[in-house]
Amino acid sequence: MSTPASTHVDTRPYLLERVGEAAVVQLYADGFTALPLGEKTLIYHLSRAALAGRDIYYDQRYAHNLAMRDVLEEIVTHPDGIPQDTFAEIQRYTKLFWINSGPYNNLTARKFVPKCTPAAFAAAARIAEKNGARLPADLARLQPYFFDLDVDPIVTSKTPGPGRDILQASANNLYAGVTMADLEGFDERYPLNSRLVKQDGRLVEEVYRIGGRYDTYIREIVRHLEEAIPFATGPMAAALRALIRFYQTGETADRVAYDIAWVQDRGSPVDTINGFVEVYMDARGVKGAWEALVYYVNPEKTAGIRKLAAAAQWFEDRMPWADKYKKQGVRGVSANAIDVVIETGDSGPVTPVGINLPNDQAIREHHGSKSVSLSNANQAYDKSTLPEFRREFAWSAEEAARAEKWSSVASELTTDMHEVIGHGSGRIAERLQGNPQGVLKEQYSALEESRADLVALYFVPDRKLVELGLVDEADHSDIVRAEYEGYARNALVQLRRIREGSQIEEDHMRNRQMIVGWLMANSRAIELRRRDGKTYYVVVDVKAFQDGAGRLLADVQRIKAEGDYEAAKALFETYGVHFDPALRDEVVARVDRLQMPSYTGFVQPRLEAVRDDVGVITDVLISYPLDLTAQMLEYSGRR
Ligand SMILES: [Zn+2]
Repeated sequence: MSTPASTHVDTRPYLLERVGEAAVVQLYADGFTALPLGEKTLIYHLSRAALAGRDIYYDQRYAHNLAMRDVLEEIVTHPDGIPQDTFAEIQRYTKLFWINSGPYNNLTARKFVPKCTPAAFAAAARIAEKNGARLPADLARLQPYFFDLDVDPIVTSKTPGPGRDILQASANNLYAGVTMADLEGFDERYPLNSRLVKQDGRLVEEVYRIGGRYDTYIREIVRHLEEAIPFATGPMAAALRALIRFYQTGETADRVAYDIAWVQDRGSPVDTINGFVEVYMDARGVKGAWEALVYYVNPEKTAGIRKLAAAAQWFEDRMPWADKYKKQGVRGVSANAIDVVIETGDSGPVTPVGINLPNDQAIREHHGSKSVSLSNANQAYDKSTLPEFRREFAWSAEEAARAEKWSSVASELTTDMHEVIGHGSGRIAERLQGNPQGVLKEQYSALEESRADLVALYFVPDRKLVELGLVDEADHSDIVRAEYEGYARNALVQLRRIREGSQIEEDHMRNRQMIVGWLMANSRAIELRRRDGKTYYVVVDVKAFQDGAGRLLADVQRIKAEGDYEAAKALFETYGVHFDPALRDEVVARVDRLQMPSYTGFVQPRLEAVRDDVGVITDVLISYPLDLTAQMLEYSGRR
């Protein structure tokens, strides 16, 4: 059964529970059941490979992580007789531990601790032990890692303060006993895939490979990848073989060969990312954190992206800017819309919404890269937003209802337009030699983000979208209005993220504030209204909004094309950077009263293989656990 999001009312549970500042949300993969058996079987084996490496990431993130998780899971599964308040707190802490893959908040990198006392925790552990829990004899050793905020306070510390070493100040397990000074003159042979350890005064690379560090996990990953190969397309099978080779040798040349094979597989309906990929956890930005995703292409949504890309020249010819800035031979940026079936390690339970890989710059230049947008994750984010959050900042009940019904469709459409026909558009003056960043300096990214947003805002009411089959004619005006209203509201709601000062630093936030501020000052599109001490940005004229976006876009394109630094600076200084702290305080109070979550952990779909008497897979069933605890315990083999 498939459920097209835009036509049926989706009443399934998305938001499952709130844990502190986190939301727990179910992820659905609706297209899975319609896939051919071979693709389902492929996804099944790849998802086993994804689970097989999950504990690598836990161990990389913190040396005590796996021992701590064992203790928590043993207590949680043997609760009889533990005092109710202590048990409730241990459950709450354990859920946050699972969502963040350890005791560090994934947004702030800072440690969080249980709110019960160490004595109450130890007493709970003893009761659990009587109930049959298997706990380490030296449980007391772990106490400071659980409870002391001064022990290993930050997982990744890139600016620890004067005189402090970034590796020493970071609690992660990518290094042991190493300082930046030790690295001077050291020839690192396995930069991405090793733990660097200082032993007897010299540096040793513990390579992540078969026969090296994480041998047991990696063997298991490889076993499942081998099972997957017979069900993969030719190019995908070649990529999987290259990945296995890299897991066997750990050599950089094999990693490069794998990256190339992976990026060359552009047509397969199923794909996976499995390995040491992103380097954000390393304060040096070198070591890869392990992650895995398994996904299939969402053909309907990908077709939409391709249609936009194919029409890129049509849009270029109608850009509201001067003809001399119009490009010939524009090609839209193409990406796949995908639905993820499982995400582990660095990408789950907290998930990205878009991915562009590989990170190796040389491979990107010579072989290109692959971009994916995670459709079902985006949809789950949207569907899990409680109606009261939209209602709080919507001027009327109609506006709130429109947001409820259309914001998901509208934001997906404009995000695609931003990426596909926004960033790639426009021509710049010859004398800038293709490098407007050079002259626009720190204003460049906010300006470029504005340009891409404005392209989407300017064209979203265009009939061309109906002709391309991207929206239904009957819904078009509601979708446009919902998009404009959501865009205006967001300029207000985003102020919640800047709790200090009266300036916006982040480029995407500057861009949104600039566009809305400019429209409020230079068009009749948006009105500032107040009611019961609350501020609202109200879209009163859709046509004025589009016209205004067109005028501003023409100027933003001119600024980029001419490298007019002074004009860019004036635009953002006037409309994009400064805000009224009293307004921010009002927004923060409204948001805090509603307890809006600041991040989300996803419960993944569950796959189960049906086998015949000789063990051959005859079907793969998908189900949705709707329960974080059940899924995490199953992943750890405790259920
Ligand atoms: Zn962008």
